[in-house]
Amino acid sequence: MAKPTWTSPETLALHGGSHRADPTTGSVAVPIHQTTSFQFQDTGHAARLFGLQELGNIYTRIMNPTTDALETRIAAIEGGVAALAVGSGQAATAFSVLNLTTPGDNIVSSTDLYGGTWNLFANTLKGMGVEVRFVDPKDPDGFARATDSRTRCYYAETLPNPKLQVFPIGEVAAIGRKLGVPLIMDNTAAPVICKPLQHGAAVVMHSTTKFIGGHGTSIGGIVVDGGNFDWEAHGSRFPTLNAPDPSYHGAVWTQAVKPLGPIAYILRMRTCLLRDLGAAMSPFNAFMFIQGLETMPLRMERHCANAIRVAAWLSEQPSVTTVIHPSVQSGEAKRRADAYLKGGYGALMGFELKGGAEAGKRFIDALQMFYHVANIGDARSLAIHPASTTHSQLSEEEQMQTGVTPGYVRLSIGIEHIDDIIADLDQALKAAG
Ligand SMILES: *Cc1c(COP(=O)(O)O)cnc(C)c1O
Repeated sequence: MAKPTWTSPETLALHGGSHRADPTTGSVAVPIHQTTSFQFQDTGHAARLFGLQELGNIYTRIMNPTTDALETRIAAIEGGVAALAVGSGQAATAFSVLNLTTPGDNIVSSTDLYGGTWNLFANTLKGMGVEVRFVDPKDPDGFARATDSRTRCYYAETLPNPKLQVFPIGEVAAIGRKLGVPLIMDNTAAPVICKPLQHGAAVVMHSTTKFIGGHGTSIGGIVVDGGNFDWEAHGSRFPTLNAPDPSYHGAVWTQAVKPLGPIAYILRMRTCLLRDLGAAMSPFNAFMFIQGLETMPLRMERHCANAIRVAAWLSEQPSVTTVIHPSVQSGEAKRRADAYLKGGYGALMGFELKGGAEAGKRFIDALQMFYHVANIGDARSLAIHPASTTHSQLSEEEQMQTGVTPGYVRLSIGIEHIDDIIADLDQALKAAG
């Protein structure tokens, strides 16, 4: 019987992808294949694997069955055709761009970015000869104006903190499709509640460290290929996929994948970037992410419900001047949130205290249940003061550009009981004065 075609994330998180019961042992949980290497059946089999006539396990730097279970499951949830797991979200972002670029090329990125992505784009990629052109996402046409013949992709985050204004995914994806430029979306902050591929994005990445892992135990990242972008139709824009690859006997990736499906982008990322740069996810961490993923849709419901309650409560506190969460936005920001987020507005939230930076620090130090950490998406509630931590490597001007003001406090609302969350915030606000 054919495998049923589930579409709900709740079901796919448990049953999607390549794993069913383990064929040799019957193990229901995905086994941890903690091995470096895989025995070839015979020399012919080995030659076919190395020649890509057959896809299969060779060496865990390049693929692994535990990691494959995670990759195929997340690809199913996002509605993509295939995925590649890597050692961190940073590696996923770097790979997603480097897979399309060579020195002299450029990409166009939203200004509203995770601090680590900002540094990668503004400094490290620049040093590698790839120019990143930053565009304010308030005006989607800015992406068209910044595009030229060497523009290889657009990059943005679904729900970027600190501003938490949802990116105009459909608008920018449509501009890109007209000009032949794929949109890569960082969907780390909005798994399940947003499906960027449905809105025209070509590639989705996640830091699996956050909501997918959900328990703050492991660092990882993943890139999902939507299989929905015609790399051949814009051949000259994508030489890494359309020109002969000297590292693979002159293979042309868009041609080589024809028997395998529309996976040129992700297969090239695995067979070239992962092979050469080596940022592999460990099988143990893939197992940890699978455990997190299985209950992630359920946790997201509680994260989102709690966050709406906290945003409403904070909005009523006299010591709070501003609350930043899509549930309390208005105008175009709210319209975009409602157009692209379904089932909730996410767990991330910001607020500003009347007392500025000093009150912000006193508030953080007074928290008893919230953890003070540089992380988001944990099942536990978390808080941080970005200006002195996550965004401290940015200049003051860059901080303002990304929306970090001195008194801004960021929260990642967990899945504890709402009364306990609000009680902790309440006592810390009082202590902050
Ligand atoms: C954390 C994060 C990253 C980087 O992920 P790591 O797993 O920490 O390398 C990228 N984008 C966003 C939105 C993040 O929150």
